[in-house]
This record gives sequence, C-alpha cells and structure tokens, in this order.
Amino acid sequence: MKNAPTLAASRAALPPEEAVPPKGGLSAEPAPRLEEILLAEPRGFCAGVDRAIEIVERALTKFGAPVYVRHEIVHNTYVVNDLKVKGAIFIEELSGVPPGATLVFSAHGVSRAVQEEARARGFQIFDATCPLVTKVHVEVAKLNKEGYEFIMIGHKGHPEVEGTMGQIDSGIHLVEDVADVARIAPLQTERLAVVTQTTLSVDDAAEISAAIVARFPQVRKPKQQDICYATQNRQDAVKVLSLQVDILIVVGSPTSSNSNRLRELAAKLGTEAYMVDDASELQEAWFEGKSRVGLTAGASAPEILVRQVIDRIKALGAVSVRKMDGVEETIKFPLPKGLKLDAQGQQIEISDSQLHQLS
Ligand code: SF4
Repeated sequence: MKNAPTLAASRAALPPEEAVPPKGGLSAEPAPRLEEILLAEPRGFCAGVDRAIEIVERALTKFGAPVYVRHEIVHNTYVVNDLKVKGAIFIEELSGVPPGATLVFSAHGVSRAVQEEARARGFQIFDATCPLVTKVHVEVAKLNKEGYEFIMIGHKGHPEVEGTMGQIDSGIHLVEDVADVARIAPLQTERLAVVTQTTLSVDDAAEISAAIVARFPQVRKPKQQDICYATQNRQDAVKVLSLQVDILIVVGSPTSSNSNRLRELAAKLGTEAYMVDDASELQEAWFEGKSRVGLTAGASAPEILVRQVIDRIKALGAVSVRKMDGVEETIKFPLPKGLKLDAQGQQIEISDSQLHQLS
C-alpha cells in the first residue's frame, strides 16, 4: 500500500499531452481508493487522565459549580470545554480564586510553591496529579535530601516539567536534547540523578540519556524509567501501525505532549502523519491516493473524537474499520479520599472536617 503511485503523481510525470487518457482505454494504473481504517491499540485515555477528569466531575457533583482547576485538567480542548460547560473554571494564577473555593490541581502536577500558596489561601484542594507524576516528585524530594542534583529530560515550559523542577529550590538542570547535555554545569558530579517527563518520545529520551551517561558515567538513572506505561504503549502501537498504512491520523490537541510525540514518531518512520483536535480539521486532500488509514489518539483524547474522525473518513470513502492487536491496559488509579464511592457505587458522604486537604 505504502508508496503506491497516485493518479495525480503519474499524470504529473507525463508530458501534458499524454496525461489525458486516450478515448476507449485507460492505460494508467487506477489510483488507490480509500478502503480501510486501522485503529491503534491501545489509544486514547490513560488511567491518569481518566482519574483527573473524574475528580473534577465528582467535585462538581458533590460541591456544585464552580470548581476551579489550575491549568487545563488534561491537555485536550474537548475535555476542557465539556468541563467548562459543567461548571469548571480553569485558571493559571491562584490570586483570582475566592477563599474557601474548591480547587483541583491538573494531572500534570504542580510545584511545591503552588501547593503552599493554595494551602495558605484556604482552598479545599483535590489533587488530580497523575500518580506516576507524583512518583517522580517523591523521588526528586527523597534524593534531594540525600544531596543529589538532577538532570531532567523534558520540554521547557511544560507544566509537568515546571511541577517536577519545582519540588526543590534548586539543583535541577533541564535538558531538551543531546546538545543541552554538553551545556549544563552541575555543581558536583558525585551525586547526580536523571529524571524525565513522563510523556516523552521513548527513543529520544534514550538517546539523551545515553549522552548524559557518556558525559557523567556515574549518574544515577531511575530504577524504572519515568516515561509512563501509557506513553510507551501508544508509541509501541504507532511503531507497528505506521508501517502498515499510507497515512496516520493522531487525535490530540496541540498542547498534548504525548499526542505530538505519536505524530512525530510516525513521520520519523516515513509515514505521512497529521494531528487533529477533532474531525473538522481533517482535510480531504490528505486522503487522495491513499488506501489504508491508521488512526490513534493521545492519552488525553476521548474516544468520542475518534468515533467522529472514523465517521468523517468513512464519508470520504473508507469502507471498513479494523482494530489492531495490542496491549490491554487495566491500570486504574484510586480517587482522592473525599471523592471515593462506597461498595455499592454510591458517593461516600463525608463531613467538612474530613475533606481531603493536600498535606
Ligand atoms: S500520560 Fe502517563 S503520566 Fe500522563 S496522565 Fe497518563 S498515565 Fe499519567
């Protein structure tokens, strides 16, 4: 399927007079027609995103609107707009949030300074930080007490990176690529540890990590790598899928790190790849001369958007949808205490004094 010549391409290669097929016979190969959609498995929501959205929804049900959320709860336009309609207010600065309000920290996590400010302002706080991000925070705080400095592999300005770097006052050096590794200047090299953003390209992180080890052979690497299971699984699926299709569509918002990495990965493997926030962004021209379409979704993109993209590609001519074999994800993270359900699935009522406060 891949590299099959399109009719447009065949015509372009011919002199103009031969590009028009002679009457009574078509000698050129017919252009491939859109036939099949191949769905990546796994795709879409991970356990951390599921949990974060549920925390906001339950807080709205239990305490009523508005519920304030610091930063987009997850990086997806549809999810954020849906929660806005239900009564969530997304903010970046805590100064505009009234005292006593219910506040949720996003799945990306926050720095200690933000935690302390939120506590000082007297909010009722629910922490939707993904437990896999919290794990990195705990590791940084623990090793910091043992005198470690850190090299963090991540994207500058991403809220998760700001949250992780903000777990300690100083001593974390951010590297975004291999070239950065040569530039950093730790105060000492005896106690140096690597941490990573959870949603990086697995291959890029491995390359940067190797450069760090080459420069600082004694560096301490995480026992288990920080890149999370969901990021790894979605990238593994795209590696297999993109070699079987003519074009890959990733459903995800521009701010979503793991969605961007999926599109980049397919492109690196030589597959034409596009990322769309929703079906309205699909362009008919992308599918001209293509037969098989791969479809996946970042960890923050809901399945409803995938369904809408499938419908749109079907409207353009695809006749069948097939799901790839892939890893089945069964991980589920527990909710914060104040929002848990009882054994019958009913919301557990708790008194104000029992409300979960971040400590
Ligand atoms: S992508 Fe990974 S780290 Fe981020 S919320 Fe999902 S499971 Fe957690």
